[in-house]
Amino acid sequence: MKNPLDKYPRPPFKTQKQEWPGLAKDMQPIPDHGEESYKGSGRLKGRKALITGGDSGIGRAAAIAYAREGADVIINYLPEEQADADEVISHIQAAGVKGIAIPGDLRSADFCRDLVETAVKELGGLDILVSNAARQQATKSITEISDEDFDWTIKTNIYAPFWIIKAAVPHLKEGSSIIATTSVQATTPSAELYDYAQTKAATTNFVRSLSLQLAEKGIRVNGVSPGPIWTPLQASGGVPQEMLVAFGKQTALGRPGQPAELASIFVQLADNDGSYTTGSIFSAHGGGELP
Ligand code: NAD
Ligand code: MG
Repeated sequence: MKNPLDKYPRPPFKTQKQEWPGLAKDMQPIPDHGEESYKGSGRLKGRKALITGGDSGIGRAAAIAYAREGADVIINYLPEEQADADEVISHIQAAGVKGIAIPGDLRSADFCRDLVETAVKELGGLDILVSNAARQQATKSITEISDEDFDWTIKTNIYAPFWIIKAAVPHLKEGSSIIATTSVQATTPSAELYDYAQTKAATTNFVRSLSLQLAEKGIRVNGVSPGPIWTPLQASGGVPQEMLVAFGKQTALGRPGQPAELASIFVQLADNDGSYTTGSIFSAHGGGELP
């Protein structure tokens, strides 16, 4: 038994500005992705997973958990995140399964399609797709968001999942699972996340429409909605520095979540045990907000 109040660091945190997309290894404190704690029990033995944004944060926690549950895992990330990706791959391979790193920018439709084709070839199929990569940059006013910035966020958070899922669906057999990372921002947007928050409303929405569309193929589609989680996305401009210092304080638990605290949700949604769950959003908000 562990008390959720003091299981992990609480604010105040140090100011720590990193350039986008940031690295987990340079955060203070370093996030917990389950490296030391996650124990598998063969729940995903023989499964084949592709996780975008699998180098750090929530995607890394899912990658480590999937590997320890027996799945082969491919992660995608940006080339400048190689150092984080190397750590994840070593954890995946230490679990005795395939761990493959495919860097590349998801804003390219061609890259997204190649990523899926390569994943299918390397793994001999695909049955878990975690659409998790995203861009979040806090901006005080809509008047300060350039067209280029707006396009960057929309391409990463809305177009890329479309391109990837569209390419993956023909390969997904009955029993496969698509999981998208959405956000508390989908339903409770912050003033400084005008662009990002609307992409998460789109994510929550497509989880519902796709789940209806793909049910007849035996493919389930669900979403995970994190609250404030201690990851590089936040430390590299996702929140203003003055908010990072108090990060997570507004939740009922009074602290940010750690990526490791979401891993079991991703496992449950991928596992065939969860076969009656589709079109649902599972949240880990630390209390105080609706899913
Ligand atoms: P993170 O920075 O660890 O992960 C985001 C990843 O997205 C990066 O590691 C990067 O590899 C990937 N990415 C971004 N742009 C990309 C591009 N153009 N091409 C390829 N990869 C790209 O942060 P995280 O918080 O773990 O984010 C994971 C998901 O969780 C995101 O969808 C985010 O919106 C969501 N989320 C996070 C929080 C939070 O507080 N951290 C809250 C709600 C939702
Ligand atoms: Mg990263």
